[in-house]
Amino acid sequence: MPFHEIVANMHMHTPYSDGEWYHAQIAEAAMRAGLDAIIVTDHNVWVQGPEHYYEKDGQRVLVLVGEEIHDQMRDPQKNHMLVYGADAELAGHAPDPQKLVDAARGRHALTFFAHPSDPEAPLVHEPDLSWVSWDVRGFTGLEIWNYMTEFKSLVTSWPNAVRYAFNPERGIRGPFPQTLAKWDELTAQGLRVVAIGNADAHGTEYHLAGLTRTIFPYPFLFRCVNTHLLLDSPFTGEVESDKRRMLSALASGHCFVGYDYPAPTRGFKFTANFEKGQAVLGDEVTNKRGVTLQIGTPAPATVLRLMCNGQEVKRWENQANATHIVPERQPGAFRVEAHLHYQGQLRGWIFSNPIYIRG
Ligand SMILES: [Zn+2]
Ligand SMILES: [Zn+2]
Repeated sequence: MPFHEIVANMHMHTPYSDGEWYHAQIAEAAMRAGLDAIIVTDHNVWVQGPEHYYEKDGQRVLVLVGEEIHDQMRDPQKNHMLVYGADAELAGHAPDPQKLVDAARGRHALTFFAHPSDPEAPLVHEPDLSWVSWDVRGFTGLEIWNYMTEFKSLVTSWPNAVRYAFNPERGIRGPFPQTLAKWDELTAQGLRVVAIGNADAHGTEYHLAGLTRTIFPYPFLFRCVNTHLLLDSPFTGEVESDKRRMLSALASGHCFVGYDYPAPTRGFKFTANFEKGQAVLGDEVTNKRGVTLQIGTPAPATVLRLMCNGQEVKRWENQANATHIVPERQPGAFRVEAHLHYQGQLRGWIFSNPIYIRG
């Protein structure tokens, strides 16, 4: 089946919570960055109304409204959950994350643990906002890479804060190892856990060393960590059907996380050929006679890793194409990581969702 790739960012804030720009202005920034869709996720408020296509100069972007929900009475305020497609206010369920997931499922909505690992930054008085309720079940997935959370982790001293505020690309390295380990632990147990990556844009002005500056404006962040989705048919321009198609690709894990700043990640492929045909990332396949995994990156990756249940099975260097045959009956959650050498260091570039091979 031919797939149609769209690029989306699905975590950002407006003045309805603690962001700076409203939907129309954010939509324009998204169009300029070449995004096809965004989901606005204000804290604990579902903003009814602005879901539609924004168009300008022959371009368009689909703007959807989700929500980032957490219990505001909790101290510290951990357990942030991104909810997509509920079309209703669910913040009332915040005190019990399992009830929140169940309520979202009841509305056919998707739930992702936002910035599952989010260490404190005492220098700027930011508390640890990690996910802690790991016994919750039935959620859709994890936000494995949150750009602003990674930046927060770099603010370990004032010189570092200034250095990375002005040149964040020197600091940004990839998803936290502890987040990837948690994800692998869950998928190795047989759970299907969809990975996404986002900006968490606020557009906030910071005052650093006597300078006032919007350090991470929306247009910049939309060129960094995005989620690329593979749709079974292209966007038509009709809001309701395009929204359904996008959320269904997301629910199926037909997506990968791409850090588009060092080099575009559009065009990445990860497929499995098995006895019943071809499957793509996010799919589940049975392995009776062996499965052939094929990987293709849009440019040669400095390091390409094939992981199975969190362990590296194979590694290639400076290649854009790779193949691996999984012997018959062998199961596992297989995923791909591509890393690029950029600004003097190896940096995470592409993180695929797993292909789940059942023995
Ligand atoms: Zn959050
Ligand atoms: Zn947020």
